Amino acid sequence: MKTLYTDFIYPTEVHDVVKLFYNDVVFVADCGEKSADITLTERAEGSVYTYTAQFCGKSDVKAVDVGRADDLQRIRLRKRFAKVATYNCMSAVTGKLMPWGSLTGIRPTKLADQLVDEGENWQQYFVKILGVSEQKTKLVADILSTQGELHSHRLGADLYVGIPFCVTRCSYCSFTGGEIARLKKYVEPYIDALCRDITATLQFAREHNILLRNVYFGGGTPTSLSASQLDKIMSCIDFAPTEYTVEAGRPDTVDKSKFDVFAAHGVNRISINPQTFNQSVLDAVGRKHTVQDIYDKYQLAQTYGFAVNMDLIAGLPTETYEMFCNSVNSAIALRPHNITVHTLALKHGSVLKEQNYASGYDVSQMVEYSHQLLYSAGYMPYYLYRQKYMASNLENVGFCLPDTQCLYNIGNMEELSDIIACGSGAISKKIMPDQKRIERAANAKDVITYIARNDEFLAKKFQLFA
Ligand code: SF4
Repeated sequence: MKTLYTDFIYPTEVHDVVKLFYNDVVFVADCGEKSADITLTERAEGSVYTYTAQFCGKSDVKAVDVGRADDLQRIRLRKRFAKVATYNCMSAVTGKLMPWGSLTGIRPTKLADQLVDEGENWQQYFVKILGVSEQKTKLVADILSTQGELHSHRLGADLYVGIPFCVTRCSYCSFTGGEIARLKKYVEPYIDALCRDITATLQFAREHNILLRNVYFGGGTPTSLSASQLDKIMSCIDFAPTEYTVEAGRPDTVDKSKFDVFAAHGVNRISINPQTFNQSVLDAVGRKHTVQDIYDKYQLAQTYGFAVNMDLIAGLPTETYEMFCNSVNSAIALRPHNITVHTLALKHGSVLKEQNYASGYDVSQMVEYSHQLLYSAGYMPYYLYRQKYMASNLENVGFCLPDTQCLYNIGNMEELSDIIACGSGAISKKIMPDQKRIERAANAKDVITYIARNDEFLAKKFQLFA
């Protein structure tokens, strides 16, 4: 275990980079100068800032001329170079390179845009300055190319509806709601509060000329509710979205009666998420459904004509490279419209995080296999995001067959759409492109507070969009 002194300039950025190399690092507020393992110093001369990182006898120096940049840009550049110096130093000490180099943000495509605005050749900058691998740089370029025109336009506003329940909890999951059986007495009051939230929100949108484009039901697992409960919520949506998506998630939670409700309300996209096609792995992570359920429910969904996304996760417990390849091959053989390859990311609140789980297999090799196979099967990457605590410091990538991109995902991930969110744990986002910032209004994460203080959260949301 390493103990690192935290009194740096830009502590968050430096910590994030150090954590790429050491899982078990402890940051202390004050361990005295003698025991400080790493130092980062900043020296300014005019508009040139120089960063010197020192760690275990190695050091790296990086300098940046922030020129006539405005205050926001000046800080951004200084933070970026503080990270680059720290990354180079850590890399020299450990002998390790990271696939995304010094880049720790969640949206590499946004950084590519920023660099273009700064007049840089972003691909060269990724590789030469930030230390991003050629392979990941190409991935970003491919995503921008698949997004095409969509990437450069503001896309209006979308409605997000959060259902914070699931049937059981998978060992890798940290979602903030709970098992529906345990929260049984709150389910109906929650649906009533959610319906009030949606109805008031849509009325507000009409009164303020906010044109809503797409609807997205996320969770938890929205389909842990019954067909009639879903029907009640969907009946509150009184406009015809371009794209209407429901995360059906667990194959064991959908059936004909729920698909009938979806079809009646104009749902045109769903997810049926295998995560793996290996029964022993499903059992190991507690997903409580069978591989056959995936095939059966996918076949049923096809009869309704829904566009289907399937999620896979690389790095699940007990899943070897060969087993993961089988999952990828099986998903591709079904030819769903979208396949999203996630890298296991363990957040606080998941059972595996508490057990300090780490995959004993090479997750990068798994991800590489999946990407290669998807490309050769005609899928293209169309969105990407990264999270903290991802195995091997990798990423999640959504792949699509031609012209089947999920517009909501692009708008949300690229921060091109405002999100007006209803339900507990849901976060509304107002994009302010002129000011280069985003404002948010979050609803309570727990169901009980959300029900009790519904009006308060509505008021916060309305204030954001008024
Ligand atoms: S099915 Fe999805 S929401 Fe439910 S516990 Fe598993 S990962 Fe979490």
